[in-house]
Amino acid sequence: MIARRQCKPIRVGKVTVGGNAPIVVQSMTKTDTRDVQATVDQINELADCGCEIARVAIPDLEAAQAISTIRKKTSIPIIADVHFDYRLALKSLKAGVDGLRLNPGNISEPEQITEVVKAARQRQVPIRIGVNAGSLPPESKPSISTSERMVNVALEQIKLLESLDFDLIKVSLKAFDVLTTIEAYRAIASKISYPLHLGITEAGLPRAGSVRSAVGIGILLYEGIGDTIRVSLSAHPREEVNTAYEILKTLSLRQHGPTLISCPSCGRAEVDIINLAESVDRSLREIKKPIKVAVMGCVVNGPGEAKEADVGIACGKNKGAIFRKGKVVSTIAEKDFLETIIAEIKAC
Ligand code: SF4
Repeated sequence: MIARRQCKPIRVGKVTVGGNAPIVVQSMTKTDTRDVQATVDQINELADCGCEIARVAIPDLEAAQAISTIRKKTSIPIIADVHFDYRLALKSLKAGVDGLRLNPGNISEPEQITEVVKAARQRQVPIRIGVNAGSLPPESKPSISTSERMVNVALEQIKLLESLDFDLIKVSLKAFDVLTTIEAYRAIASKISYPLHLGITEAGLPRAGSVRSAVGIGILLYEGIGDTIRVSLSAHPREEVNTAYEILKTLSLRQHGPTLISCPSCGRAEVDIINLAESVDRSLREIKKPIKVAVMGCVVNGPGEAKEADVGIACGKNKGAIFRKGKVVSTIAEKDFLETIIAEIKAC
C-alpha cells in the first residue's frame, strides 16, 4: 500500500486533484484548437477511454475563444496551455476554461502574471505552474543543478501567486531526463503543500516514451508523490491515457478496464501464444470493466496464473483449460480458444 503525500486538494472544474482524490489521468489534444470540431471529437474520444482532464494548446486569441464552444460540447474539464502572451490566458478565462497552465519561463513580467492571477481568482480557476527544464529563465549561479533551478523557479512563482492571495495552485517540474525529473519532484514535495502534476516531458515514441514515463512517474508515485499524471508520447493521445492507466494499475493506485496477463511463450508452448494474446488484447479494448484475463502457454505456470484471474486459459497440446474465478469450467479444442475466451470475458 502506497502512502500518498498529503496536499491541499484543488478543483479543476468537476474533478478534484490532490487530497485523498484518486490520481487523475490527463492528456493533451493534438488538434489545432481553432478547429473546434476536430478538438471536440478528440476530447470526447479521450474521455471515452478514461481521460479525466484535457489540456488544449492556445497559440492565439482565436484558439482561446474556441474554448467557449469546446466546453459546451465536451464533458471533461479543459485546461488552457498558454505560453508567452498573458492575454491568451485572460481570454481563455473569459471563455470559461477550467484551468490554466502557465510556464514561468515564458511569461516573465510580474504585472502580467498579476493580471492573470486576479482574473483566475475571480473565477476560482486553478493555475498549474508548469516548469520545463528546456525553458528555464537564465540563472546567475552556473553551479546550480537543473533540478535545483527548476525547484527554485517554481518556488518563486508560488511566492508570487501567494502574495496575490491565490492558492489554487498545482505544480509540475518536467524534464526529458528521468533522474532530473525525479530529483526535482522529490525536492519540492516536502517544501509545498500543493498538488503535483507528474510527467516526463518529450518522452518520445510509444515504446521508449512509455518506458521512460513508467520509470519516472512510477518511481515518484511509489514514493507517494503525485496527484495527477500525463504521459507525453509522440502518438495519438489515447495512447497517453492507456499508458497512464497501465502505470496506475501496475502500482494498484487505480482500477481501470481489463488487465491482460500473458506468458512470454517459450519452447514448451504447444500453441501460438503470442498471436492468441494479441487477439485477446484487441478484443479487450472494447471492454470497460476491471477484469483480469490470463493467457498462458502450458501447464508449468499456466494453471496457477489462470486460477488467479477472473478468466484464464492454460493451453496444452491442441486443447486448453478455461478457468473462471479460479475454477476449470471447460476444456476446449484449439480452434475454439479465442471465441470461448471472449464469450467468458463478456459473461464475466
Ligand atoms: Fe513457457 Fe509455459 Fe511459461 Fe508460457 S507458461 S513461458 S509456455 S513455461
